[in-house]
Amino acid sequence: MTPIRCAALGALLLACVPAFGADLTVRIDAREVARRHLQTHETLAVKPGPLVLVYPKWIPAEHAPAGPLDSIIGLEIAANGQKLAWKRDPYEMYAITVTVPAGVNRLDITLDSGLPADGGGFSSSPGSTARLAIIRWNEFVMLPKGRDAATIPSIGSVVIPAGWTASCSLDSHPGEGGALEFEPVSLAQLIDSPVQAGQFIRRVDLPGSEPHPDIHHSISIAADTDEATDVPADFAVNYGKLAAEAGAVFASRHYRHYVWLLSLSDHIAHFGEEHHESSDDRLPETILKDDDGRKEVAGLLGHEYVHSWNGKFRRPQGLLSPDYLKPMDGSLLWVYEGMTEFWGDVLPTRAGLIKPEDYRDLIAENAGHYDISSGPNWRPLADTAVEAQVLYDSPRAWSSARRSVDFYEASVFLWLDVDSQLRAHSGGKATLDDFTHRFYSGNDGKPEVKPYVENDLYTTLAAIAPADWRGIIRKHLDVADNTALLEGLKHTGWQLSYSAEKNIYVEILNKIRKRTRLEWSIGLNLDEKGVIIDVIEGRAAALAGAAPEMMLVAVNGKKFTPDLLDAAIVAAKASHKPIELLVENDDYYRTLSVAYFDGPRFPHLTRIEGTPDTLSEVLKSHVH
Ligand SMILES: [Zn+2]
Repeated sequence: MTPIRCAALGALLLACVPAFGADLTVRIDAREVARRHLQTHETLAVKPGPLVLVYPKWIPAEHAPAGPLDSIIGLEIAANGQKLAWKRDPYEMYAITVTVPAGVNRLDITLDSGLPADGGGFSSSPGSTARLAIIRWNEFVMLPKGRDAATIPSIGSVVIPAGWTASCSLDSHPGEGGALEFEPVSLAQLIDSPVQAGQFIRRVDLPGSEPHPDIHHSISIAADTDEATDVPADFAVNYGKLAAEAGAVFASRHYRHYVWLLSLSDHIAHFGEEHHESSDDRLPETILKDDDGRKEVAGLLGHEYVHSWNGKFRRPQGLLSPDYLKPMDGSLLWVYEGMTEFWGDVLPTRAGLIKPEDYRDLIAENAGHYDISSGPNWRPLADTAVEAQVLYDSPRAWSSARRSVDFYEASVFLWLDVDSQLRAHSGGKATLDDFTHRFYSGNDGKPEVKPYVENDLYTTLAAIAPADWRGIIRKHLDVADNTALLEGLKHTGWQLSYSAEKNIYVEILNKIRKRTRLEWSIGLNLDEKGVIIDVIEGRAAALAGAAPEMMLVAVNGKKFTPDLLDAAIVAAKASHKPIELLVENDDYYRTLSVAYFDGPRFPHLTRIEGTPDTLSEVLKSHVH
């Protein structure tokens, strides 16, 4: 904890709202959400004269200028019942100018929103169906340019369809006209508190856990059907363990209570988005039905939960955008997302939601991906963080050569390395748990933001154990090859190896995402229809002419199925005859002769005997 920094940041407390009335009120009429139409009425305290209003552009957690500007299908600004003319900034389309007439101290803003049914990413992607909706306040408000949203006292309310219920981390009470009115908070906290609404919502309350048995945790499950919200009998107990494991690592909890808003539908985009006191977690409708699906749920809920500390409470200075118009700098996303990815899988494993052998295959899949991809040979890991706002939306084609948002999974090896180096430099006394405990501790209770810069990481690490922490970490970030990544893995006592045995984690992902991943053998990644998602440059299929977005039609003259392709890879090893792949490229067909004879090949971790097994230590429960 750094008391000087805390004192200087008092103004950033999200919940500091004066006792007098709200500067901003926003009432969302969501009764027509099933037809993807919402109408919002906002009132905003203003002063006479020119005023620039901003529609939130840089959305926290999205690290990109992703505010869904094109969802606006109607806008009217009025004062004392008179419509005002508005004009858009031609260089900044999220900003409009109005002139507030003399004597006016409040504007009425009416927004009509048409929600998307397909396409887009995060905010811009579908988030509502005929039976459920995730309502995010940032999509329905405008605020004055340059004004810190943490200093705008606000009250939000929402009218949901008859027969639906709602979940939100904010307290609520019945308001006027059937609305649900939420507690007064700052605009920043309102935007940080999405509302999940739906016809079928099941709330699972988790058992309390030390060291904070009174802080309540729950999971609110909304789905397109009632049966999709069913959970096994041990579900609440197991997620209670996750909250307990997080408490053991982070020591303090910067929330009054925490709710996962888990929304299950095949008609919404699938991702997770973090908030201080909740997370917006979206997955396929039937994901809770079997063990493999529930492992995917554990990974997502673990990741978004860790963000309450790493990303929401402690946030890189460059990722602050107080009025949602100031551009963000993603340079430290290898901490924000990378360490979250680390703890987001480790904590569910410590809690028993993921088995250690599954975790090892997950790490092997990641290491194996970077081992064969050509992207890390030209682009250093740090550059993927700097370019995050573009890479989030980049095409799936050529992603292994381009690199994607690798600051998530590739940074896990950086943090595994830091963990084993902390153990080595402290004579076995300290681990990454100690760093996490120090760096993320603070006051229990209401949400607050405590920004940091890169050097703060090195200072904290050095206070635990002296070493060249900048050198150890920047080696992972600045060198365009995989040496640091694979060496970092070896420091945990395990190394990457390949065998014909299938990787459990790859199989789970194949099943859930309907993929066939043969990157480590012929070098192809296919979707369920046989469309090539990506190729691995330099491997047999690419050398034979395969490219992303070609469609694999037949294998050795017979219609493609994933099993047929698996069998052909096995047969080619015995026969030493090339595999013939008939592909469709636009309107033309072509047969590729794939000279690959090494059989099935999947990544695994193998123990390096005689070295400390720090990976297994990392995965051990810390709750007694
Ligand atoms: Zn994340």
